Amino acid sequence: MINLELSARHQETFDQVMMLAEHMMRPYSRKYDREEHSYPREMEEVAKLIGGGRSGGGPREPTPEGTVVNGASMGAVTGLFALCWGDVGLFLGMPGSGLGNAAINAVGTPEQVKKFGKCYAAMCITEPGTGSDSANISTTALADGDEWILNGEKIFVTDGQRCDTLVVWATLDKSLGKAAIKSFIVEKGTPGCEVTRLEHKLGIRASDTASISFSDCRIPRDNILGSPEIAADAEGRKKAFGGVMQTFDNTRPPVAAMAIGVSRAALDMSRQLLEEEGICLQFDKKPLNLSAVEAELYKMEAEWNAAKLLVLKAAWMADNKLPNSMEASMCKAKAGRVGNDITLRCVALCQSLGYSENHLLEKFARDSKILDIFEGTQQIQQLIVARRVLGKSSSELK
Ligand SMILES: Cc1cc2nc3c(=O)[nH]c(=O)nc-3n(C[C@H](O)[C@H](O)[C@H](O)COP(=O)(O)OP(=O)(O)OC[C@H]3O[C@@H](n4cnc5c(N)ncnc54)[C@H](O)[C@@H]3O)c2cc1C
Repeated sequence: MINLELSARHQETFDQVMMLAEHMMRPYSRKYDREEHSYPREMEEVAKLIGGGRSGGGPREPTPEGTVVNGASMGAVTGLFALCWGDVGLFLGMPGSGLGNAAINAVGTPEQVKKFGKCYAAMCITEPGTGSDSANISTTALADGDEWILNGEKIFVTDGQRCDTLVVWATLDKSLGKAAIKSFIVEKGTPGCEVTRLEHKLGIRASDTASISFSDCRIPRDNILGSPEIAADAEGRKKAFGGVMQTFDNTRPPVAAMAIGVSRAALDMSRQLLEEEGICLQFDKKPLNLSAVEAELYKMEAEWNAAKLLVLKAAWMADNKLPNSMEASMCKAKAGRVGNDITLRCVALCQSLGYSENHLLEKFARDSKILDIFEGTQQIQQLIVARRVLGKSSSELK
């Protein structure tokens, strides 16, 4: 049976990580927002302390009914609620926090997970000519003896400069469409792989976002994630790309969890600032007696809780090995949107205090924007959910 209450163990992890977030991340939030591209060295200590916590740590624990309660995905999203309450940008800039790690753990062979699972891995999908339409990528991978040769350009790679490993989407043969798209592990420092540019950004300025070029970049033949075969029949082709896309089932709930964390931070800070002005939330007050500000805060709290429950559900399903593509997209759509709405509304509610750099509310609003864009935009998540609900294929509903 599904139970979305946090287990005692996850609650304990959450409380501990919140302490780190408050005392070891928040004090550096503004510094690294201003000093874009400088390395947040202080986060190395936080990364060390949460080493086990990020992955959820420890074995899965089945209940008497046979379901898993203390799984790694639930542990990961719970940790992210707290870390991103601390600071999304600093979390993303922390060693070992790469989205590529989730991909390796989701689709890597046991040997690959053992070899690369603990690396700091970034995810390289987006290209100058390809964003949401990820089936259209142009980076190529050519088999040559015991190696693959990669050629192409990737842009907007989060952690692209600081990471030590890249998960790169490339096509074995563009004429064969999405069935020929595979993901490859490239270790940084491999000749032919070069960081060519760093972006200046609206938010998450503590994290680096890089362009990376691959020019006759040779990697070992074993560094392909999944099978190198290109299925001959339509059903097999559909399945093959599904395997690559499966990565997103594991990366979307964590990104949604980041939105839950930063929007909680905005709500907590707004409530504190409003309380200083005499506006306090009393949950037992009759709805008819509410001021407009109170009503708005209650509405945001309700939306926040709904989004959080969707994230927990998608993570719980992943831990229990239940297919969760639709739920992963649902939670990303809801949390991404709610995260943007809440953080921006909090700026408006607190007016000059919200807009000024004396507090972090304006930064929370800037940082949250990306969480509704990367790992699939709001519109793309809605499209995926609609396809699942209506039973339509990607060619039937575009
Ligand atoms: C700070 C930052 C970090 C990033 N990190 C990474 C990373 O680590 N790895 C990586 O690979 N990429 C990363 N990205 C890229 C990100 O995933 C893409 O920006 C995103 O997928 C959207 O692609 P696009 O920018 O090309 O926009 P487009 O795909 O061109 O979309 C433009 C607009 O059209 C909408 N749209 C597109 N198709 C449809 C449709 N069928 N129906 C309705 N609306 C549609 C989109 O929702 C969007 O609003 C990052 C981007 C940024 C800004």
